[in-house]
Amino acid sequence: MRRNNNFFKAFLLSVCFMITAFGLNALTAHAYSEGETDDCYKATGIGAQEGLKYTSDEDWVPKNLEKKAIQGENLSDDKSILYLIMADGFTADEKDAFEKEASDMMNYLMKLVPYSEFKNLTKAYTVFTPSNESGASRDLSYADYMAQYKAEKEKGEQGNVEIDTKDTFFKCAFNQLSAYYNYDYERLIEPSCAGMQRAADIAKEYAPSYNQIIIISNSERYGGSGLSEQWGPYRPYYPTTTQSSDTPAKDETYFQEVKGINLAVASINSASKEVAAHEIAHALGNLADEYWPGEVFATENCPNMTQTSDASQVKWKDFLTYSERTKNGVFQYEGYGDAAANSWYRPSKGSCKMEALSYPNSGIFYEFCEVCREGFRENMSKASNSTSIYWQDYCKNSTPSTAKTIAADGTLEYSTLDQSGYTTEFAYTGNAPKDLESSFIVRHAGTVVDNPKITFTYYDSKKNKLDKAPSASGTYTVTAAFAGSGDMNSCTVTKAYTILKDTNQQKPPQQPEIAAPKTMTLSASAYTYNGKVRKPSVTIKDTNGKAVGASNYTVSYSKGCKNVGRYTVTVTFKGDYSKYKSMSKTFDIKPKTTSISKLKASKKAFTVKWKKQTTQTTGYHIQYSKDKKFKNGVKAANVKSSKTLKKISKLKSKKTYYVRIRTYKTVKVNGKSVKVYSNWSKIKKVKTK
Ligand SMILES: [Zn+2]
Ligand SMILES: [Zn+2]
Repeated sequence: MRRNNNFFKAFLLSVCFMITAFGLNALTAHAYSEGETDDCYKATGIGAQEGLKYTSDEDWVPKNLEKKAIQGENLSDDKSILYLIMADGFTADEKDAFEKEASDMMNYLMKLVPYSEFKNLTKAYTVFTPSNESGASRDLSYADYMAQYKAEKEKGEQGNVEIDTKDTFFKCAFNQLSAYYNYDYERLIEPSCAGMQRAADIAKEYAPSYNQIIIISNSERYGGSGLSEQWGPYRPYYPTTTQSSDTPAKDETYFQEVKGINLAVASINSASKEVAAHEIAHALGNLADEYWPGEVFATENCPNMTQTSDASQVKWKDFLTYSERTKNGVFQYEGYGDAAANSWYRPSKGSCKMEALSYPNSGIFYEFCEVCREGFRENMSKASNSTSIYWQDYCKNSTPSTAKTIAADGTLEYSTLDQSGYTTEFAYTGNAPKDLESSFIVRHAGTVVDNPKITFTYYDSKKNKLDKAPSASGTYTVTAAFAGSGDMNSCTVTKAYTILKDTNQQKPPQQPEIAAPKTMTLSASAYTYNGKVRKPSVTIKDTNGKAVGASNYTVSYSKGCKNVGRYTVTVTFKGDYSKYKSMSKTFDIKPKTTSISKLKASKKAFTVKWKKQTTQTTGYHIQYSKDKKFKNGVKAANVKSSKTLKKISKLKSKKTYYVRIRTYKTVKVNGKSVKVYSNWSKIKKVKTK
């Protein structure tokens, strides 16, 4: 596999190098005079075939060629990317075979990113250009070709040596330059110079607004080539590389004023479509090779070639780091012996289709790198002269779908090849919707539109329309619609994306620590019975001494709260405070008190009389003491509620005693009997006798 890989890369180098160089020269066909042979081949010393003769007769551009739209037939020619596919080496009997090849070619391209993204703007015609003979010229292996070439030379042939020529419409021939460089250019198949001009002239007649010509050569041998209009006028090429010793002198003035056309050639070999895909990318995409093709092809005009080696300044800096394909992507060209390569840089290495081609059953598929795709899109937009909307965040944080493979029959086995093939994940930033919307651009005829008015519609993963852009984690789709204005047509694009969970958000919410409730205070700790319900209000304070808001708890009271008794107030915390459960406090409803109505002294005794108070009262509690503050030597007596006097005896004579009285009621608190007392009466004193 490794060997094969190198084999194909080596081929590609040859193809692009030679095709561009030689093809451009070829277009001096304008300078031909009538009846003259294909002199550019002579001038470059190639063992050219008996050339197609330039002629002004009507057969040069036949009037009755069959033209058929095979794709995008409803599109207008000038508002589409227009391909014109023509035949070489197909006889009139082989028309159907040509049509099938043309259709396969378009199917292949329309599966390939970024060609695929422009499928609905792509139109293709076939114009059947029948040949007198089937096949291609010099359809020989390099070894066979060179053996025959040398044998002819030994016979004393001078100038052009004709080997294995076929009379075909555009005179496509393999082994272009093989003899000139004495190097294996077997796979370089090109029309003759005049053939190229003829292709351009037919295109001008049959599809004047064409963007790209494809010539399909009827040979199973692997090969292809390409020309680029954008490079043409500026790049006359003078071969300077070592030439075989029998090369005739060149007339350099012959190569002035070259003019390019977008022309790709591919044989019907199943791998040759890849050559076309690469060559069209040069022409329509204005892309440079990503191997070193020689100093004459070095230019800053291409999006994928530069002399800037600073990653922060390079023209593809937006693509760096994010894409697997282009990360760290300021790669020096490898010089292939040409020192000039050292000052030129490319965005990828060993992975882009502008460097290497895929081939059937290889298990390797080379995509266009991200930088090339984006440059290609820009130029396709220009070519179609239309308006498109793009989701451009693939430049930053997406991974493209990885490519598949080419089956043995040349079918591209490939799943999703448009923008929806990219997976996009956004880290949660809190403003993900805004970031997403800035990722859409509108391009009209190759130019990015300033501040386009785009309408965004968001859907959740179940396709429910959302009121606004989501910011929570999840998978969504967004449809971005541009309404169009003036010359600009309306367009929409739909993009699926995922907002990732924020790892910080997955933790419990960071709330300020709540100070624990500490004290519970009632507005009154006791009431005196008045026949009404009494319920004190509650104040809770936390450990900082701050009141806890009443919304953080509920207050409940024991039953009743009217009769004399001991009642419980319970606070149950809720919400943020619920972890503190509850607090409670009791309060009493006391019986009414009474008062001492008379103290009467007697011998070592006194009698106390009081006012009757029997409401909510079990009895009376009397205290007496020689200490007026009732601290020391306090004695007491309980009396049933039915009595109103009590004699206290066995006292000392001639001593002053202080006396007070209160009522009480015996109640049950938590199953135990408890006396709830009234307030004390006023203190009175008496001196015993
Ligand atoms: Zn190339
Ligand atoms: Zn590239």
